[in-house]
Amino acid sequence: MYRTHTCGELNLRHAGQTVTLAGWVQRSRDLGGMTFIDLRDRYGITQLAFNMETNADLCSQARKLGREYVVQVVGRVIERSSKNSKIPTGDIEIEVQELCLLNESRTPPFTIEDQSDGGDDLRMRYRYLDIRRNPVRQNLEMRHRMAMLVRNYLSDRDFLEIETPMLIKSTPEGARDFVVPSRMNPGEFYALPQSPQQYKQLLMVAGMDRYFQIVRCFRDEDLRADRQPEFTQIDCEMSFAHQEDVLDMFEGLAKHLFTEMKGLQFDSFPRMTWHDAMRLYGSDKPDIRFGMQFVELNEVVKGKGFGLFDAADLVVGICAKGCAEYSRKQLDALTDFVKRPQVGAGGLVYIKYNLDGSFKSSVDKFYTADDLRRVAACFGAAPGDLMLVLCGPAMRTRVQLCALRLEMAQQMGLRTPDVYAPLWVVDFPLLEWDEETQRYYAMHHPFTAPKPEDEPLLADPTRWGDIRANAYDMVINGVEVGGGSIRIHDRTLQNQMFHTLGFSDEQAYAQFGFLMDAFTYGAPPHAGLAFGFDRLCSLFGGVDTIRDFIAFPKNNSGRDVMSGSPSPISQEQLDELQIRLDKKN
Ligand code: ASP
Repeated sequence: MYRTHTCGELNLRHAGQTVTLAGWVQRSRDLGGMTFIDLRDRYGITQLAFNMETNADLCSQARKLGREYVVQVVGRVIERSSKNSKIPTGDIEIEVQELCLLNESRTPPFTIEDQSDGGDDLRMRYRYLDIRRNPVRQNLEMRHRMAMLVRNYLSDRDFLEIETPMLIKSTPEGARDFVVPSRMNPGEFYALPQSPQQYKQLLMVAGMDRYFQIVRCFRDEDLRADRQPEFTQIDCEMSFAHQEDVLDMFEGLAKHLFTEMKGLQFDSFPRMTWHDAMRLYGSDKPDIRFGMQFVELNEVVKGKGFGLFDAADLVVGICAKGCAEYSRKQLDALTDFVKRPQVGAGGLVYIKYNLDGSFKSSVDKFYTADDLRRVAACFGAAPGDLMLVLCGPAMRTRVQLCALRLEMAQQMGLRTPDVYAPLWVVDFPLLEWDEETQRYYAMHHPFTAPKPEDEPLLADPTRWGDIRANAYDMVINGVEVGGGSIRIHDRTLQNQMFHTLGFSDEQAYAQFGFLMDAFTYGAPPHAGLAFGFDRLCSLFGGVDTIRDFIAFPKNNSGRDVMSGSPSPISQEQLDELQIRLDKKN
């Protein structure tokens, strides 16, 4: 037997027992007469003691063990003289009688400690060593626990986990597909799924009623800070379900996770329409851990001779409680922040409501104290507060103010990772206009149903932008953790939708024929959603990076630096696939 116990479970109750342990050498301390080794496995650390006087041979063998050597020991559990209350095994040590070297190790390129001396790149290159460290291992353990909770919750409610294909047909909507050449069908390609959307809808036509899958999805997008080309969704679909049924079911799942993982209880998640989310927070994923809602000021600031405000479509601001003391330097930094290309505002107007009741603003030339008092009243501001105002085209300005709101909240310490504020954002627009290609795109995807009361607007192209969808997102702390919609199950409406998106009948049929055909065989009303599982894990883990919760993630350029992928393939492979590369490459 390799081991009778793990390195994390022995305590005083085991004193006197002879045990066998196996693991890695975390560190060793040579104190002359005694040598101590910390033996580590997934479960913890146990101290091994070697005594020079009683067993000189064994002790000198132990002294030769380097970091990360793999060993097996047999020994007796004894009470320690100097106990370590920080670890569960801290009351005991093993008086080693037999030592067996199972494998040597090269000196690892960084320390396998909670705080490692290895940089990001190095730890990614040696991810298998990085995973030996507690924080990374614990993240993967947490991910496993979450996956089990999800599976059990959904399985208990009659959801079946059904696998859908990974090699599928490429479709032009959505993000870019990763494609896979087919050797047997030269010149033809599979795509890796961006999501199992069409298959899960087919499973509803197939009568499976309730489906879920914890499934890998692939999107060939330009990688922004925290995107992975492959990521995991908790993908779900239900038949004979209204929006209310879906929201209920998956709010229940989220609450279950909060209770089991965090011991937190929630009342019903608040709901906010997309329109209100944009108006009050400038974002379809508002962070509502704190207030600082937008206040629109057109009524009170226009017509006082300040050209910028007068000309603007929208003048809108936020009130930062207790920030009137901000220095010139801090205000300049905020101005620089909003002027950065990523935010893109032209400038920032500030109004300080001083503690003595006076005002100081960057627009004092145009506004009297009375004017500013009226503005302050709109904000509900009190002495000591700082009002920050932007102006410009409505939507763009709101998005800019959203960035400023989050920055201010960060500076004010309002974005605490252990406070959770979930909500549903509902009634998304069905269609989104794209300036570049001069056409409408489905905001969610082309299978999302319009709200029945807005359906007639489909007949009037000038109103397409006003059509609301039966689509919803779950948002927690400013992060979109999940989203879905009521699907179109009626073939005529689906056709109409494809037309709206600029597909001819032939094009639509070439792309989605199998789904359209399926819909002629009694498709039930159905709806669903998908959670971003990596993101959900990082949120519950209280960190921003999803990479920390993926065993073998890609770096920011989509590379796996450990295995070195992507990589060129051999000429033989290329020939077999009948792929000819441009000489330049
Ligand atoms: N397939 C959708 C997505 O990946 C989710 C859904 O509508 O169920 O965003």
